[in-house]
Amino acid sequence: MKEQLDLLFDLQQLDTKIDWATRELNGLDDGTAKRAELSAAEAQLAGLEDALRQANGEQLDKELQLESTETERKDKWGKAYGGTISDPKELASLERKIEELQRRRSKLEDDLLTLYDDIERRTEAADVQRATAERLRQELDTIVATFQTRSAELREVIAQAGGERESVVAGLDAGLLADYEGLRHKTGGLAVAVAKDQLCTGCRVSMSLMIYESVLACKHVVRCEGCRRILHPGK
Ligand SMILES: [Zn+2]
Repeated sequence: MKEQLDLLFDLQQLDTKIDWATRELNGLDDGTAKRAELSAAEAQLAGLEDALRQANGEQLDKELQLESTETERKDKWGKAYGGTISDPKELASLERKIEELQRRRSKLEDDLLTLYDDIERRTEAADVQRATAERLRQELDTIVATFQTRSAELREVIAQAGGERESVVAGLDAGLLADYEGLRHKTGGLAVAVAKDQLCTGCRVSMSLMIYESVLACKHVVRCEGCRRILHPGK
């Protein structure tokens, strides 16, 4: 009987180890939350970069407009004051056009100044956001690397304990194994409790000396009167 009780004790140790490793494995951070955070940051960065590209396009467009306005103004100026126009009406018309072109130039210059400020601000914001995304990417890499190492270790623990468990189960009496499994289910994991100093370590309930001695003797299955767990003297 002692051999059977020892096997039962070993089985409990292995199952406790498997339960622990499974809980650890399920609780590991696989980077899902950080990945979502990174995606959001990257989407925000893409938005900022789009707006910046648009502003750069607008800048180029306005610079070209400014250039052609200035060319046209110079051309009209040369025509008006080059000594070739004698008709005062034609001259007045040209002067109105020149004034209009000057107003347009002035407006474009103002717009461009605003745009330069805007681009500078947007460039800074995009730089900050790019750094944020980069930091999150590095954090995610670390989490994923840790997850891979740790989960491989835990899977190894589970596989090894699982292998040992099989050989323990092979040597166990079927009825005892069924009792053990039933108790594991009822108690949420711990079916075999160590009895120490007349105390059940599963529920902290004390036992009579007589019961304690039969636990130590290992001649038959003794259960705790408090929690019904199978008692073992420990190894
Ligand atoms: Zn107990």
